[in-house]
Amino acid sequence: MKSRKASIRWRMVLIYFLLIFIAMSIVSVFLLNRTEAYQISSLQQNIEGVVRESGLLETLAGYDELAENSEEIQRYLSQGFVYSSEEISVVDTKLEIIASTNGMLVGRSASAVFDAGLITAVMESLTEDQRQSSTADKVEIMNKCYPIIPLNSIEPTGTLYVRADLTSIETLLKQNQIIYVQATLLALFITIVLGFILATNITEPINSVTNTVKKMSEGDFSNEVPVRSNDEIGQLAMMFNLMQGKLDETMGEMQDEKSKLEAILKYMADGLIAISRGGEVIHINRAARKMLHVSEAEAKSISYDALIGHLSPDLELSKVLNNSLEGETELNFDHGGLTFAVRYDRFTSEEEGYAGVLILLQDITERQKLDDMQKDFVANVSHELKTPLATVKAYTETLMDGGVDPDTSDHFLEIINSETDRMTRLVKDLLQLSRLDHQQERWNIKEGNLTRLLSSCVEKMTAIAAQKHQSLSALFSSDEELRVSFDRDRMEQVILNVISNSVKYTKEGGAITVDARRDGAIVRVTVADNGTGIANEDITRIFERFYRVDKARSRAMGSSGLGLAISKHIVEEHQGTIEASSELGKGTVITISLPLVTHRGIANID
Ligand code: ATP
Ligand code: MG
Repeated sequence: MKSRKASIRWRMVLIYFLLIFIAMSIVSVFLLNRTEAYQISSLQQNIEGVVRESGLLETLAGYDELAENSEEIQRYLSQGFVYSSEEISVVDTKLEIIASTNGMLVGRSASAVFDAGLITAVMESLTEDQRQSSTADKVEIMNKCYPIIPLNSIEPTGTLYVRADLTSIETLLKQNQIIYVQATLLALFITIVLGFILATNITEPINSVTNTVKKMSEGDFSNEVPVRSNDEIGQLAMMFNLMQGKLDETMGEMQDEKSKLEAILKYMADGLIAISRGGEVIHINRAARKMLHVSEAEAKSISYDALIGHLSPDLELSKVLNNSLEGETELNFDHGGLTFAVRYDRFTSEEEGYAGVLILLQDITERQKLDDMQKDFVANVSHELKTPLATVKAYTETLMDGGVDPDTSDHFLEIINSETDRMTRLVKDLLQLSRLDHQQERWNIKEGNLTRLLSSCVEKMTAIAAQKHQSLSALFSSDEELRVSFDRDRMEQVILNVISNSVKYTKEGGAITVDARRDGAIVRVTVADNGTGIANEDITRIFERFYRVDKARSRAMGSSGLGLAISKHIVEEHQGTIEASSELGKGTVITISLPLVTHRGIANID
């Protein structure tokens, strides 16, 4: 990221740099060339001025023979041209320097000192010419050669050879060059600085956008790109901020919806499983995991078949996929002692269309149980009522037919009476159960001494036990105070029922004991007998309505099987528990646990 940012900046600087460098170089070369050309042409004009305007060439043309008049010519040159900056020499046809402003040259051969080729070419062409050359000590010089042609002849008598030193021009050009290089360097430096500032100005907002996008991708929408100008870059930043705001809003809404949905899925009581068409488990909520006994980690790796497909042939993947094409499908299945209702339907996605199947699992065990219980209950009630009613009906009809002796009719009437009593008791019990179920029982709960209640119950039952020659003994000390909050009548009903059960289901001569012991903050009342006992498989069921271990025997004894069901209800209403433990043929112990009143205050003392 960093290198790219830098590269754009440096690339811009480099482009500016090259542009300025090329422009400056072209300008410098052009200017140097022009300066050189100008300098040389003004030098030439200078030579022209010396040679023609001073009348030097005309004067020389006046001599028919140059060598013969060399002295005069030398004098003439020395007088008129010695201060001129150019070196002026006269060469005759034999290429001998006959006169010169530079005395050292006089008498020497021109071909040794001057450019002989130039002289020959001028002599032949009869027109002036020039050449540039450099001396042995690298001094640049300009050689200009003019033919000397007498007025009355066409044959040249010699040449006028002018040499000018170009060093000053060279120096000037060199100085110019240095100036241009310096100017170029300065311009480049300014370019780099300005280019850098300009590039930074352009790249900085881009960097801001890049950084903000990076943060956005990490889920942070709080950063805004600073808008520093109103130009294209400023507008880009503005638009970007606008887009970010909108995106943030939309993402927020989506997130809200998602968490809402997640919460619903998490806390819904029904199990929910989503599978893809390939049978991959996409989602499984907590309730479903609990129902199917899989951990969160397992659920992620498990396949549909291993998860639920194997539980019922109706839940095979191919079947489920097929059926869901036709819409919602419902079925029930049993698993691990529980009953489940399953509903499934396909779900679609925008890209794929039919994307998978959504399965809703409901644990309907309790509902099923309640349904069954209700059915059983109605059947039981009807049955319990039908038997005595049939008896009453039969005896009444016999009596109505007449012809029954008074003793028998008395007996019949007794039976009718006792059957009616039994029905009344049954109806009373049912009504009480219904009141308990619907929480309409009126409670009169007061704090009192449970020992007293127990003593009175034992007393009441002693006579009945005695009829069966059973001993009923109280093991608790009647002086001990066990303070419990209870409804006296209802609790008496419970204890009488439990003791009467022991009396009922214990043979003649048996022993029944009633005890009450503190156990921390709880009092445990136990009623133990050495009677028939209850088999293990029945023991949990004796608290169910109408449940009797030996139906025929119990019914013959006039019991309906509601006693313990009502007792359990009442005890639980007192925040207590009632439990049975028993051994077949040895006896039964019923334990009622009730919370003791722990606090003590004036109001609580009887
Ligand atoms: P009800 O109490 O309505 O007159 P019941 O005594 O038969 O009828 P419950 O008190 O609910 O009904 O008792 C249910 C069943 O539990 C009894 O029918 C009996 O089979 C069994 N049971 C209860 N107590 C004892 C016990 N002490 N010994 C052996 N079996 C018992
Ligand atoms: Mg009973």
